Amino acid sequence: MNVTAANKRNIYILWLLVVPMSFYLALNFFPSNDFDYMNMFISLAFLIAIMMISIPLERVSITLEKWIIFSLFFQYGVFAEMVFMQIGMFILLFTLKSPTPKPFRFASNSIVFSVVSLVSGYVFYAFGGSLQSMTLVNFFIAGFIYASVYSLVNSLLLFVLLKMLKQNSSDKKKVVLWDFVTTILLLPFAIIFTLLFQQIGGKAFLLIGVPFLLVLLVTSNFLKSDRLSDLLSSAAVIGHHLAESLRVDDVLHTFVEKIKNVIPYESAYIIDLRVGGNLIMLSCVEGETHRVNASNLVLPSKNPEDDGLDVETTKMYLTKKSLSALNGFTFAPSVESVMTAPIKRDGKTEGFLILTSNQKFAFEEVQAKMVDLLTGYFATALVKARYYEKTVEKSTRCALTGLRNYHYLEQKLDEEIVLLHTGEIYSLSAIMLDIDRFKSINDTYGHQSGNDLLAALANLLKKYQLERMTLARYGGEEFTIILPNFSKEEAVKLAELIRKDVEKSSFEIIPDLSDDQEPVGVQLTISLGVASMPEDAKDGKDLLRNADRALYIGGKQAGRNRVGVYEENSDIKVTN
Ligand code: GH3
Ligand code: MG
Ligand code: MG
Repeated sequence: MNVTAANKRNIYILWLLVVPMSFYLALNFFPSNDFDYMNMFISLAFLIAIMMISIPLERVSITLEKWIIFSLFFQYGVFAEMVFMQIGMFILLFTLKSPTPKPFRFASNSIVFSVVSLVSGYVFYAFGGSLQSMTLVNFFIAGFIYASVYSLVNSLLLFVLLKMLKQNSSDKKKVVLWDFVTTILLLPFAIIFTLLFQQIGGKAFLLIGVPFLLVLLVTSNFLKSDRLSDLLSSAAVIGHHLAESLRVDDVLHTFVEKIKNVIPYESAYIIDLRVGGNLIMLSCVEGETHRVNASNLVLPSKNPEDDGLDVETTKMYLTKKSLSALNGFTFAPSVESVMTAPIKRDGKTEGFLILTSNQKFAFEEVQAKMVDLLTGYFATALVKARYYEKTVEKSTRCALTGLRNYHYLEQKLDEEIVLLHTGEIYSLSAIMLDIDRFKSINDTYGHQSGNDLLAALANLLKKYQLERMTLARYGGEEFTIILPNFSKEEAVKLAELIRKDVEKSSFEIIPDLSDDQEPVGVQLTISLGVASMPEDAKDGKDLLRNADRALYIGGKQAGRNRVGVYEENSDIKVTN
């Protein structure tokens, strides 16, 4: 909860108006019995112990102090109850972490509870509640009404207060329900304890207080370990999802998305640790948007040791003040909590996960443990995905030239045809090219030198690589270029450019057949053929076939070192 300065001022003024007055009324206008200070001292010890053992229930933390509080009311009246409830609240400030500042929390709760004490006390007496002259049934009835009023007025006042301060109260419904249920369940304990105390004195603490505390401890630990096992099983599910992701992008995406379900965060950053300690952003989520470059986090440029980032263990920074330890990083002003976790492979830190939240105390120890586990899964999944992508990439290329292979060309051509049919591209051109009299080069210099020449020609072709084009080795000494959104004229222009470039180039090779192995420069020419869709072909195979025909008729037959252009009436045009 973000509290404005005006809200704080209003609450402190209200506290001054309400709380001292309530104490005055409780002391002077309500019945009370003589205080047994020993009893009160032991009760205080129990209250402190109970306040320190909170029970986690569906993201709500509850404490079970009401039986002590109520028994003090039944024994000594409203004033004693009021004092103890205020002490209990004070302890809770330190045991229950909350983003709201402590003085503000104390003041608002103090106001609410002093009114609650007065109202519920008044109702108890109004319904005939009195310790001296009651049957057990009357005691239960007045007690039940008292406890119900206590819990409901508390919730009601909290709602009103949050409304007045214009704070969101939607997540409070669960708290109201749990508060009511536990208050009513604890009432019999308070009554039995009170009656027993009248009979046997301080031994009542041994018979009721101590067992209660032990059961509470066991339950609290059980629920905490239950929560841990819940988190562990979600970690296992996330691990499976990561293991199924084959693409690097999928792994990054799955990792940050799935973590969000178990560790609510505002932004998540996956950062690569490069040689020399450089930090590079790999991927991030800010709000709902996945992107590569972060806009709410500036990474340090120096070594991670110097900027406060722990390279060995997961760390939590739960207040703005503690964030200053990460001095190399610049977070958005709204960030209040940060978790940093090293991503390790084979015991070596290779990157980091950074989670941020706009709330104080947003992360818990158990979540940090979970992140440790998940970063391990993530690192393995990432290595696997990178290996997979590399293997797939390798399988689409020709080993000799590094260009795409025929298999890739076929698939890509199919994809481009679909785009042409759906209107996403307006034309598709193909250039086929074949080295002139390559056989004689093999015969003169040897096949190894021929191979070197093919690789050298491929390098020349790579100069013309544009983002959307496909440059492939069709087979032997034939190459294909697929050009989406290239008109036939544009494709012919490019083909001419390449032809001239090859013609004037000298390719250096080491003759395989001669003994001296001295490098020699070899001149080459190529013949090319161009065809385009939609005008020259109905499908991909047709397109390549017609570009090939243009190559042989307009290039080779016309005398080589030429660009042949496919024409509909099959008169192949030659450009020069
Ligand atoms: P043309 O001008 O008619 O194209 O004459 P050419 O000699 O180039 O004839 P063609 O295209 O029919 O011959 C292809 C030759 O290319 C046959 C083979 O010796 C050579 N060749 C094909 N693939 C390879 C290869 O991978 N490595 C080497 N070194 N030579 C190859
Ligand atoms: Mg040839
Ligand atoms: Mg050939």
